[in-house]
Amino acid sequence: MIDLTSSFLKALLKHSKSPIIIFKIKPILVVVEHNDAYRNLIARIGVDLAFYDINIIPNLISDQEKELLIETVNQVSERKEEANLIIHPIYSNSPNVNWELTFSPVLQSNQPIEYIICSLKEIPTNENGIEQILLELSESEARFRGFFEQAPLGMCVLRGKELVTEYANDNILKLWGKTRKEIIGIPQVEARPELGLQKSLLNRVKGIFKTGEPLVLNELKIATALTDGFFIAMYQPLKNDKNEVTRILVIIKDITEQVNFKKELLKAKDILKIAMDASEMGSWNIDIESRKVLLSDRAQQIYELESNNLGIEEAKALISADDFSALTGGIRYALHHRKAFNIEYRININGINTKTKWLRTAGKAYYNEDGKAIYIAGAVLDITEHKQDEIRKNDFIGMVSHELKTPLTALSAYVQLLQFKLKDTDNSFTIETLDKINVQLKRMSLMIDGFLNVSLLESGKILLHKTDFDLVDLIKTIAEENRVILPSHFIQVVGLEEIIVNADREKIGNVINNLISNAAKYSKKESLIAIKCEKQKGEAIISVEDEGIGIKESDIPKLFDRFYRVESISTQTIAGFGVGLYICAEVMERHKGKIWVESKFGQGSTFLFSLPVEEMLTNEG
Ligand code: ADP
Repeated sequence: MIDLTSSFLKALLKHSKSPIIIFKIKPILVVVEHNDAYRNLIARIGVDLAFYDINIIPNLISDQEKELLIETVNQVSERKEEANLIIHPIYSNSPNVNWELTFSPVLQSNQPIEYIICSLKEIPTNENGIEQILLELSESEARFRGFFEQAPLGMCVLRGKELVTEYANDNILKLWGKTRKEIIGIPQVEARPELGLQKSLLNRVKGIFKTGEPLVLNELKIATALTDGFFIAMYQPLKNDKNEVTRILVIIKDITEQVNFKKELLKAKDILKIAMDASEMGSWNIDIESRKVLLSDRAQQIYELESNNLGIEEAKALISADDFSALTGGIRYALHHRKAFNIEYRININGINTKTKWLRTAGKAYYNEDGKAIYIAGAVLDITEHKQDEIRKNDFIGMVSHELKTPLTALSAYVQLLQFKLKDTDNSFTIETLDKINVQLKRMSLMIDGFLNVSLLESGKILLHKTDFDLVDLIKTIAEENRVILPSHFIQVVGLEEIIVNADREKIGNVINNLISNAAKYSKKESLIAIKCEKQKGEAIISVEDEGIGIKESDIPKLFDRFYRVESISTQTIAGFGVGLYICAEVMERHKGKIWVESKFGQGSTFLFSLPVEEMLTNEG
């Protein structure tokens, strides 16, 4: 028999840091003693301690485990051997803990076991130590905080209906104009009194605790001393394991730029509509897959159609046969090269040839991610009147130029006659004057030819009379003529090999003449004009190089446009109409050749053109 009241035993129990209880086996199993550590444990897990009651433990464990415990105690008393048991008590506030119980019999010589000492150790349920769990917890919290801080969004967590701020990242603090100290742990209305004005917003947010539904506010306008812009605010309820909303995660994104962009876009669309209405421009869209053409009201009006929706074949049938291949070819080229197109063409209204309209359409294709064209869209303008004006103007220019040429030719003949008559006299003043008259007459003739060519070109009446001739020979002849007309410059020809081309000799001659005349016009007296011809990869390449004023890069793309002249102090006093290069370009295009320029502003220019050589020879054969 041991004395449970002995001061030695009491001191021993008190001394132990582990919870210890002492069971008495007979007559019934009861807990007869326990220490402070056990008492503290029971207090920590919030259960009442009933003395001498075995049910103190069953309060915390399942019936099954209670049976196991009693069985183990009996077994220890019978076998007089130590035993271990692990049970899982149901803690309400710390669920992931097991108890490891060690039962030791109190042996008293050969007598049956009367008392069993049980020591108790709390161990975490998984293999990791409790420290590891705590570490992981703090790590994941740190990660969460890191994500919070680095997110390019304003984020915070609000707790309870008072909306107490638990977390807030720098972005949201900046938006609120608050420091962390002023906000954390404080209800929103208290920390941000300015919110008082937004009662309805606050009520909606608080409502989430009832509904459990997230809330999204789009294009929320926030205008404060610190912020002025548009935001998207998302309020996401966070629930506990009983599915109750305990907190709200708030995410705020600044969408001012997007909203302003959208506004600008709408404005631009509006302006475009006004501009299109004012210029009476229509728009169209071709869906490539369905082969459907959709027209705007104005485009429908231009085409004089009853419907604004038609099949592509129907649309094609409207186009005049004369322009059909130019239009479809142009669109196909633009599609293939992913470029915009701008084409003039005629349509036959109601399929009747008697009413024709001139249209100008500009557009481009739009591609999907795989690079496949999905639709073509553009604008269309009725240019019939403008075109008729142009035709009338061209006819007029053509007629006037033609009429001027007749007396000019007669005048040249008379001058030549006089020159012939005076050839052997010593009337040098008259001879020289007649030479000068001749130069001016040639110039005038060239200018009139230019106008005549423009009008012929525009009315499509320019025809090529192709023959095989030696380009080098032509260049040499023209250079010789120009040495007489332009004694002010040195004209040099480089490259003497024969190059036979199949082309319109007169028109190619005009191009060379034009380039030489420009080279002289736009350079100083006594400077060099070098004409080179060479053969390269089946092409004859002719260049006319001068040491003149040169051309700015920005002017180069417009140089070959009709009536384009570079406006500058150095060109102000030089006569011209800006048609020479335009005609050259047209002539080259009709020969399937190219014309271009390389220039350094202030240093000189080189105009080049190329003509196919081999192709011509094969055509010939
Ligand atoms: P223009 O009658 O004005 O000379 P062109 O069509 O022949 O008309 O030339 C267009 C413009 O290109 C000229 O006004 C001039 O500014 C520029 N240009 C042409 N050739 C040269 C050149 N060799 N050097 C510098 N500028 C040139």
